[in-house]
Amino acid sequence: MSAQFYEHSGEAGGASAGALRVLQLYPRDMNIYGDWGNTRVLARRAQWRGYDVEVLSYDPGDELPDGVHLVVGGGGQDSGQERITADLQARAAELRAWAADGVPMLVICGLYQLFGHRFLTARGSEIPGISVFDAETVAGDGRLIGNITTTSEVFGGIVGYENHSGLTTLAPNQAPFGRVRSGDGNNGQDGTEGALAHHVIGTYLHGSLLPKNPAVADWLLERAARAAGLEWVGDAVAHPGLDGTWADRARAVAMSRPR
Ligand code: GLN
Repeated sequence: MSAQFYEHSGEAGGASAGALRVLQLYPRDMNIYGDWGNTRVLARRAQWRGYDVEVLSYDPGDELPDGVHLVVGGGGQDSGQERITADLQARAAELRAWAADGVPMLVICGLYQLFGHRFLTARGSEIPGISVFDAETVAGDGRLIGNITTTSEVFGGIVGYENHSGLTTLAPNQAPFGRVRSGDGNNGQDGTEGALAHHVIGTYLHGSLLPKNPAVADWLLERAARAAGLEWVGDAVAHPGLDGTWADRARAVAMSRPR
């Protein structure tokens, strides 16, 4: 059984805007550098808009729940990636079908790598991925570590922190999540960062990503509402939690800093 982390009712005052079911993938093995914070941001921003939110976790061997509207997964060591491989392969067809159906997903670092075709580790083993992204990753000699800023036509400026040895190469037709302004991104060479396919975002940005980039959180939530057959409340609700002043200031400072 997948564990229920928590359930919260919406806080917009008035009738519920409907229920969203969020699934955290592999939190036992894939959840470092504060990646769990992304799920908390999604849950809170949804609640502030009046949605009821149920957060479920899925670890190897669990039953995959039905009716998932949003999937979130984090980073992990190579060893964590190896531990989830068999289970991820067993779930590949379902996860790919959800992605093709428009279920929004956010996968960070180690799980991003495994949403591509494969990850070749520094020890020479090949960890197969599930090919949601047309991309593959090969371990490099050093680690790409530090603050990173990128830009994207869809999301504007994005700020985060990266720490990986894997060097990811996108196929020519695979869209990146952003273009590097400062930092290394997918491989330190071609200026791409992350990948975007269907409504699935893959990225190396930890830190957590979503508190610093609420526009990305709301992009995911809007698509989750649609996947749930609900109306997207958007900015029609004026909850103080949705005031972006502090996040904007933090982002401006991050954008102006060297790596
Ligand atoms: N093990 C992978 C790498 O170093 C992923 C690391 C991570 O998720 N932070 O490339």
